[in-house]
Amino acid sequence: MSALPDEISQVDCDVLVLGGGTAGPMAAYKAKMKRPAARVVLLEKANVRRSGAICMGMDGLNNAVIPGHATPEQYTREITIANDGICDQAPVYKYAQRCFDIIQELDRFGIKFQKNENGDFDVKKVHHLGSYVLPMPNGDTVKRALYRQLRREKVLISNRYMATRLLTGRDGQIAGAIAVSTRSAEFLVLRAKAVILCAGAAGRLGLPQSGYLWGTYENATNSGDGYAMAYHAGASLANLECYQINPLIKDYNGPACAYVAGPFGAYTTNSQGNRFIECDYWSGQMMQEFYSELQSGNGPVFLKLNHLHSDTIEKIEAVLHHVERPSRGRFHENRGTNYRERMIEMHISEIGLCSGHSASGVFVDEFARTTVGGLYAAGDMASVPHNYMLGAFTNGAIAGEHAAELALSIDLFDYDQGDVAREVARVLAPTRREDGIPPNQLEYKTRRLVNDYLQPPKVTAKMRLGQARFAEVRQDMEHTMVVRDAHELMRSLEVASILDCAEMAAFASLFRTESRWGLYHYRVDYPEKNNAEWFCHSILRKQNGRMTAEKRAVAPYIVPIEESERSAYDRQRIRELA
Ligand SMILES: Cc1cc2nc3c(=O)[nH]c(=O)nc-3n(C[C@H](O)[C@H](O)[C@H](O)COP(=O)(O)OP(=O)(O)OC[C@H]3O[C@@H](n4cnc5c(N)ncnc54)[C@H](O)[C@@H]3O)c2cc1C
Repeated sequence: MSALPDEISQVDCDVLVLGGGTAGPMAAYKAKMKRPAARVVLLEKANVRRSGAICMGMDGLNNAVIPGHATPEQYTREITIANDGICDQAPVYKYAQRCFDIIQELDRFGIKFQKNENGDFDVKKVHHLGSYVLPMPNGDTVKRALYRQLRREKVLISNRYMATRLLTGRDGQIAGAIAVSTRSAEFLVLRAKAVILCAGAAGRLGLPQSGYLWGTYENATNSGDGYAMAYHAGASLANLECYQINPLIKDYNGPACAYVAGPFGAYTTNSQGNRFIECDYWSGQMMQEFYSELQSGNGPVFLKLNHLHSDTIEKIEAVLHHVERPSRGRFHENRGTNYRERMIEMHISEIGLCSGHSASGVFVDEFARTTVGGLYAAGDMASVPHNYMLGAFTNGAIAGEHAAELALSIDLFDYDQGDVAREVARVLAPTRREDGIPPNQLEYKTRRLVNDYLQPPKVTAKMRLGQARFAEVRQDMEHTMVVRDAHELMRSLEVASILDCAEMAAFASLFRTESRWGLYHYRVDYPEKNNAEWFCHSILRKQNGRMTAEKRAVAPYIVPIEESERSAYDRQRIRELA
């Protein structure tokens, strides 16, 4: 690769937010609102106008705690049970207390939520126990509305810069980050008093069944960079073996959206059109039943709408074909799938790491603080379980406000210039070669190996083989990968993050010698749940250059869970009536 810029620019700021999808813009906005004089920088690999999981819009809030419909205590109880008890409740409870304020604020931004004839929020029941789903009929406006606020508050936005590593001071406190332009390969060192990681899920971990690298369920720019950066900075990551696996539309790989269609009377069935799960809310236990049905000979599994009145289906189409993924209508049309006549075939997604839908993330407390001083994390990459979009907004807000306060009380920390030089050398190494393996081939190989060796049911011998194969890919990546332009440079850095995440997923899965969270961590060699030894978080981190894992006790519950409630999510299968 020729003509690499050799200057390294430096920017100083109070609060640096990495990732401008959902949590990131809210974190930056709230930091600026808290301290208008603060220098707040929002850095995004793509373009904040249309980046992240909500880029095209969202059909609804999956987890809204609305007075009159649910209480913070009920929600905290539901999520604790849904996550098999492994839940530090403080961040969940704090989210539940704060999220209604955020809904009202989003409403004021112009993102309208569905209301009933009395003008009250029209909340739907999808979860096993309570009612938390709030439709957003004009959810396609969400990103634009957010962007307007950022412009109004004069948040500094750096688009097309990819953060590659965090910088820490001598005592391990955060000092900033290094980023590289995805268009010109220019480096940028950002010094910051506080850094908020909002880089989303590790969504390019498994390979979709279609084989397309970017045909992922998750927003495809989320290649796990946040997880990798946190790991290399020494932060703790929690429960990475609790994968994200979702029930999706076969070949389209988007959500079937039972949350939208369910309240109208649609449901998940087997190939005979029989309902087999009580509740369509996504959980590991639900996915286990979905998987069992597929294996039982009753599969494939479908979303059934063809029993509904045509007018009802029209209302469902008005949402599903226009808001979140507008391409869905075209997909079904080209396949000849009219919901009135045919059921929609579903399948199981590739694996990923994500707390938004599951629980695998960078360990955070109720202020979104990680275990590294001055480093925060929010959204899909932070460890608050079943967090979804409103969790990203709310915890982003909490992180932004706390980080702005912290920045007021501290100075910038010095970082080691040697760390920058080492990172520049790592990033540019593949550009120094004339020939070799391009990043997309290494990515394909890594992700195919993830499917072969890590996809549940998890088998110890397979995961060990997977580790050996990943080590070989790392050798290829470090010694033979070649990069020919700035765009490919970004892809090569993404491969490194994907490989880091694959290694972390295998390591964490081997550490927890039990099965938990239904299909998410179903280990064939240890098929039972073992509360006596494993009612705890697994914590993974980098110590002295090596990956380590340890147990961490679940914090005492704030909201007690009755013994009889604990297994509510285990009872997903519809029982045969005598
Ligand atoms: C298909 C789909 C449907 C969903 N439907 C719903 C729904 O109906 N209701 C609901 O409540 N939730 C839904 N969710 C979940 C919700 O969208 C997410 O939980 C939430 O948007 C996550 O926000 P985030 O900020 O963590 O990640 P994102 O919004 O994905 O943002 C992450 C950002 O980080 C950027 N980034 C990544 N790496 C770097 C880097 N190295 N440097 C700089 N920038 C970087 C990315 O480009 C991206 O813009 C859905 C998710 C998906 C994928």
